[in-house]
Amino acid sequence: MGDIEACSCIQHCEAGYPFKNGKLIRSDIGAIYECNSFCGCDYTCPNRNIQNNNMNDKNLQIFKTSNRGWGVRTLKPIKEGSFVTEHVGEIINSRTSMLRSICYDKLNMMAYFDLDYGFDSDKGSKILCLDSNYWCNISRFMNHSCDANLVTIPFFVETKDMRFQRIGFFAQRDISKNTELTLDYRIQNPEFECLCGSKFCR
Ligand SMILES: [Zn+2]
Ligand SMILES: [Zn+2]
Ligand SMILES: [Zn+2]
Repeated sequence: MGDIEACSCIQHCEAGYPFKNGKLIRSDIGAIYECNSFCGCDYTCPNRNIQNNNMNDKNLQIFKTSNRGWGVRTLKPIKEGSFVTEHVGEIINSRTSMLRSICYDKLNMMAYFDLDYGFDSDKGSKILCLDSNYWCNISRFMNHSCDANLVTIPFFVETKDMRFQRIGFFAQRDISKNTELTLDYRIQNPEFECLCGSKFCR
């Protein structure tokens, strides 16, 4: 195999095939649709970057930051465009998320990730949320930065059902070892006091 044009999944990629040598080369692509068990190709197909990636959570470490609680750093250098990890959590509906957020707000806990890629905002009630308070991976401990080194991109492997989009994190630039990994949460809460320390801090 190896003929990416032969894979029908690639046609879902709105802006063309976004990888080169296994690295993401553009982030304005909407979502990533990888080949899966319904495709005729095998695991060597180049459109299986995320599922075949060899970046592993064990290269990431939770550590205590000086001023923002726990954070996550990488123990190995990461090349620009590499898949780093995905956001893992419990998939809940908007009613459950509303009920839980009352409690989370009181405890000042970070709550959800809305799975809203591809949904009109006026149909927002149909979206699902990923709650990482009970079930999670290391990404739960990643802090916000206004100049984040990771970018968030939805992706699909076994299902193309928009509601069950998965959330991937990719390196936006080369990241040296022992650097903290950060995400731009696009926090809208005016009471949020940002401590990211970036010169681009909003
Ligand atoms: Zn394929
Ligand atoms: Zn395919
Ligand atoms: Zn900031």
